[in-house]
Amino acid sequence: MGKAIAIFNQKGGVGKTTTNINLSACLAVQGKKVLVIDIDPQGNTTSGIGIKKRKLTDTLYDVLVNKDYDVHKAILQTKTANLDIIPASVDLAGAEIELVNIEGRERRLKKAIEQVRGEYDYIFIDCPPSLGLLTINSLTAVDSVLIPIQCEFYALEGVSQLMSTVELVKKNMNPDLQIEGVILSMFDGRTNLAIQVVQEVKKYFGKYVFSTVIPRNVRLAEAPSYGMPIVKYDPSSAGAKAYNKFALEFLDREKRRKKKNG
Ligand code: ADP
Ligand code: MG
Repeated sequence: MGKAIAIFNQKGGVGKTTTNINLSACLAVQGKKVLVIDIDPQGNTTSGIGIKKRKLTDTLYDVLVNKDYDVHKAILQTKTANLDIIPASVDLAGAEIELVNIEGRERRLKKAIEQVRGEYDYIFIDCPPSLGLLTINSLTAVDSVLIPIQCEFYALEGVSQLMSTVELVKKNMNPDLQIEGVILSMFDGRTNLAIQVVQEVKKYFGKYVFSTVIPRNVRLAEAPSYGMPIVKYDPSSAGAKAYNKFALEFLDREKRRKKKNG
């Protein structure tokens, strides 16, 4: 059974989509079978992974809104082997409103994921920067949340709200929801501020913080416009090396956790 993980932070521009695309691709290169679900109406993961949005017939919208829908119809292969995607389209923004009148509206994505869990090692969900029904669906559907935090002055702003959202979902919808970890992104080692932020985040989240830190790297920002994960666009870049290292640390944590739990 695959593990489902939501990449979640209600703040925009912290590196959710970049982490989703690149962690997924690095894991796929490592031989893991990975499904990425784009639940952000902006569809940045979809285009960043190389899918042309105009040509899509079935998207996550159909998965969430259509009754008795076969999820397989919305799954596309990407150019990276082992990496599949359920793409987003702009009508996903409307789904948020349409869902309000649908029975079991918070569990639509969970139900959909259960159809395909057995076919993947990991399922990653790229959450939108809001706390609406799409985000609630994501947090209800997953085993854990991975939280990207940007190394900037307001890094911890909003974090208590983020944690209370996780607690709220845990209490009402998904009692087994775990924190997968915290990944620090857009680190600029030349500034004292970035170093301070890393310390502060480690003080707040402790052992949850991955020791890999993703640097600010222009190649990471360029790659999406070529529709490629960084490991394909520029495998020797600092960004590619960092996401590869992160993927290995992620897998190592998984291994230890499994060992510990027998
Ligand atoms: P979110 O999904 O949280 O809104 P994104 O992943 O889209 O955040 O990142 C916001 C912007 O910053 C994007 O333009 C992205 O290309 C860029 N970006 C993300 N991570 C890095 C990084 N490590 N170095 C440089 N640019 C980055
Ligand atoms: Mg995004």
